[in-house]
Amino acid sequence: MSGTSRRGFKRQKALEILTRLKRLYPDAICSLKYDTPVQLLVATILSAQCTDERVNKVTPALFDRFPDAAALAGADISEIETLVRSTGFYRNKAKNIQGACRAIVEKFGGQVPKQMEQLLELPGVARKTANVVLAHAYGINAGVTVDTHVKRLSYRLGLTSQTNPVKVERDLMPLLPQEDWENWSIRLIYHGRAVCAARKPACDRCILADLCPSVDRTVS
Ligand code: SF4
Repeated sequence: MSGTSRRGFKRQKALEILTRLKRLYPDAICSLKYDTPVQLLVATILSAQCTDERVNKVTPALFDRFPDAAALAGADISEIETLVRSTGFYRNKAKNIQGACRAIVEKFGGQVPKQMEQLLELPGVARKTANVVLAHAYGINAGVTVDTHVKRLSYRLGLTSQTNPVKVERDLMPLLPQEDWENWSIRLIYHGRAVCAARKPACDRCILADLCPSVDRTVS
């Protein structure tokens, strides 16, 4: 198969996967709780190596005490650390949250910027976090969010042979309509949690089994 027809085949497959996942998971919403773009940015930083459920347990008290970028920028760092401790890597996360909020106050007038390049200047913000914030806070599909579920499922489904998230994102973007970039990620995350688990994928009840080269094989 030539490179062009292989890409066409992959694109067709990606669209079919998306159609099925849209039927299975009609509501694709971000499971982090937030009221403002700054709060979404903070929640996304906290979600690294942690479940959204756990993050949602700590953010109400955090945002109650420090509701915006200015409050977090001026906070006593030990107070932030205490409030986010149960999400793991709390010292680093507190440092990044405060560093990002200081930059937002000093360079962007207290508002989370809407440009990918500017977001990537903030401490603790890589493409995954920037994509989540742009898509859910501003409705901007700047890229495909690649977390551990998106990476694993895209690989198992044969849509990428890469494992580096930036390279996986580069493989996925041409396969999907831009308006579907974020909802692809959300639905793959749902499917990763519900069916295609890292250790024991439930291939026997997977609606993607006939499209999946990894069916009945545990690969990562
Ligand atoms: S068939 Fe199995 S490996 Fe493939 S996506 Fe479904 S659960 Fe995952």
